[in-house]
Amino acid sequence: MAKIEKLGAVKGMNDILPKDAPLWDYFEDTVRGLMRAYGYRQLRTPILEYTPLFKRGVGEHTDIVEKEMYSFTDALNGEALSMRPEGTASACRAAIEHNLTYDGGKRLWYTGPMFRHERPQRGRYRQFHQVGCEALGFAGPDVDAELIYMCARLWEELDIRDVQLQINSLGNAEERARHRADLIAHLEAHADVLDEDGKRRLHSNPLRVLDSKNPAMQDVANAAPKLIDYLGAESRAHFEQLKRLLKMRGIQYEVNPRLVRGLDYYNLTVFEWVTTRLGSQGTICGGGRYDGLFELLGGKPTPACGFAMGVERILELLREGDVDPKEGVDVYVVHAGEGALQLGMQVAELLRDQGIEVLVHAGEGGFKSQMKKADASGAAFAVILGEDEVSKNEVTLKHLRDETGDGAGSQERMPVSHLPLRLLEVFGFGNGGDED
Ligand code: ATP
Ligand code: MG
Repeated sequence: MAKIEKLGAVKGMNDILPKDAPLWDYFEDTVRGLMRAYGYRQLRTPILEYTPLFKRGVGEHTDIVEKEMYSFTDALNGEALSMRPEGTASACRAAIEHNLTYDGGKRLWYTGPMFRHERPQRGRYRQFHQVGCEALGFAGPDVDAELIYMCARLWEELDIRDVQLQINSLGNAEERARHRADLIAHLEAHADVLDEDGKRRLHSNPLRVLDSKNPAMQDVANAAPKLIDYLGAESRAHFEQLKRLLKMRGIQYEVNPRLVRGLDYYNLTVFEWVTTRLGSQGTICGGGRYDGLFELLGGKPTPACGFAMGVERILELLREGDVDPKEGVDVYVVHAGEGALQLGMQVAELLRDQGIEVLVHAGEGGFKSQMKKADASGAAFAVILGEDEVSKNEVTLKHLRDETGDGAGSQERMPVSHLPLRLLEVFGFGNGGDED
């Protein structure tokens, strides 16, 4: 018989366990509210796409396409497929395929897992999650600013501080071409200090050399011609208006002339939100304008701008902060005897009708062990049903925590019919979750 190997999750791909669910829920709920507040509508695209979409859309000479993509041939029909490493190419593919912008611009958002074959480490996984927005069919810079407003509002709502905004402008194709010639000349003149990646990119993707983290190359990168000095009047005006709109909302930014972003498709606005609190994986969100991407993918010319944020990195910041998302239910129902089980299940349904979250003890268990489970469940109250309560159609309500000010451990007894109102009263009206 074949040896059974120990099975585990794929390296760099994490289970998200129930203990982490409240934080994910809290983050995702906040994001949904944010998207509603700005009128963005959700787009869900498949995880697999034809490989040429990313080769073309993300760019042949990017880290992602050169060395990070999960690409394979479908053994059943020979098709070349890839697991999506990011969301923008898919969103544009879908927008073109379904002609989403036929009657004007569309504001879209997405969330879900992305896949990149990188070396797993803190803040860097092979399956990770992004939330992204794409404003399709808008030339900006108003929507560029709007997208940055959205990020700023999200950090405010999540109480994430010390993230800095960096912005830059990559101009238009002609401005980039002029800069590129000078940049290559500069890099060639200092070829001796370029590392392997730098040499390889010198001609294929020289902008990326500016992005290098290699300490030995910092002087050359800093001394390189700056794209921002090559901008014509129109590109400059775009950038200036963006900066005005950011200032208007009091958003602090730093212009970083070396910010070029890893993907090929950007022009004009690029931005990143960076924190020093996550070691070298400090970029929690990156975005920019990609006016050429639709055409590159076979669509009509469509200006567009977007961002993607790394959910795992943001959650790590939240874990350090003092958010304390609610865990567990509101009420745990403890019951002894057949009649009590039946009454308990009925009472639980009555409470759920009011939006109160209820766990009914399941299976065997004496009173003591049930009360232990009630405590461990995180519930604020235990509803206790014994023979006596059942015979009188009453319940005992026990306060398990002191949050309500009634003191942990205190008890009150009341007719079953009074319980929903009493609980709504102590939770504060509507706190059961009906309003939203
Ligand atoms: P980095 O420079 O950290 O590799 P990137 O430029 O490759 O980031 P983007 O393609 O801009 O990243 O993706 C947007 C965001 O997604 C990043 O800012 C980051 O927060 C997150 N992200 C990217 N790759 C990973 C990964 N492998 N694991 C976890 N989060 C990631
Ligand atoms: Mg990367």
